Amino acid sequence: MSELRSVVEALRSESLSGLPDARLEEDFAELHRVVEQLEAEGLRRLAEIDRRGLYERDGHLSCAAWLVAQHRVAFGRAREAVKVARGLEEMPVARHALDEGDVSLSAVRVLADAREVDPDAFARAETTLVEAARMHSLRDLQRVTAHWRALVEQEQTPDPEERMRRRRSFHASVSFLGMVKVDGNLDPETGETLLTALSAVLDAEAHSRTREDTRSPAQRRADALGEICRQWLDRSDRPQVGGERPHISVTVGLDVLKGSPGTAEFDHAGAVPSSVAQRLACDASVTRIVLSADSEPLDVGRRTRVVSAAMRRALIMRDRHCRFPGCDRPPSQCDAHHVVHWAKGGPTSMANTILLCRRHHRLIHDHGGFTLELVQGRPVFGRPDGSVLQERGPP
Ligand SMILES: [Zn+2]
Ligand SMILES: [Zn+2]
Repeated sequence: MSELRSVVEALRSESLSGLPDARLEEDFAELHRVVEQLEAEGLRRLAEIDRRGLYERDGHLSCAAWLVAQHRVAFGRAREAVKVARGLEEMPVARHALDEGDVSLSAVRVLADAREVDPDAFARAETTLVEAARMHSLRDLQRVTAHWRALVEQEQTPDPEERMRRRRSFHASVSFLGMVKVDGNLDPETGETLLTALSAVLDAEAHSRTREDTRSPAQRRADALGEICRQWLDRSDRPQVGGERPHISVTVGLDVLKGSPGTAEFDHAGAVPSSVAQRLACDASVTRIVLSADSEPLDVGRRTRVVSAAMRRALIMRDRHCRFPGCDRPPSQCDAHHVVHWAKGGPTSMANTILLCRRHHRLIHDHGGFTLELVQGRPVFGRPDGSVLQERGPP
């Protein structure tokens, strides 16, 4: 291993500016080949670590989890590395071709992926598939393995509908800054259900859309999916989990709700700006949990609705729809907004609450955006530049 390090050291001290073009390309090709072989050797050791269960020593639940924690590898890459390492142990023909430099490590990854479908069938077809890897580009190899995979699946499940259903998957994972990445494959029936629900929400929006919509179609679909989930969560006949109807939870200090700087946190997506917590708490069920100085819960209060059902009905009678000038989204898409936030002492009274659709509610709570004040009991909306938007009174 120390020899390896001194080779790297020698490479590093080499000056590149004076190298002829041909040498530079040759060097790159040679390095690329060696790097792949080194990586293959790394994977061979990884497979041995996996076999001996060394990752269990520090309590890691899998070899991939160990890679993530010990070597700061992204989880997706760690899982793939373990898959390829294990696969190579069972793919002698591919291993040999890789060692000889006949196939690239990228091609081996494609093969290892295909092997997962049916290891036994793969063992029977390995020589042919490796031959394909030797001859074809990576893209073409992917086509070959996809074709092979389809054949194997056809043998396993002759029913084409069942074959499609088997491929269904759905992933939703938190990525940077709390964004949630969604991707997957839905079987035709579930897909049709999703598309129908999305287009129902989009149609309803198109009808009530009176101002110019600046959202892209993709953004509109994302909002529509949120609306579908929210309405499902709002249903009162849904099953309870742990004695409660699960809804989104955000943990926030009262001082932050009152406007002090600080953070708030979603259960799943993590940290969110305080303005989001203020907006969500504006019309919500609130559980009070008092924490001691060292964050031990001292007292847990009952879950109480900020705006009662009776008051919401009265608000709907009065406002009919979103009160933002020019908007007529129906009450089902509206929150009850406190003009003066309850955390800042604003009363939950008819005089201090107003119906706003989710998008306008967001607009009002965003720092530095639109404003809403009560002037002699009447709502006055202001643009970010301070000018007043014409308010349309309740009918
Ligand atoms: Zn509000
Ligand atoms: Zn609105």
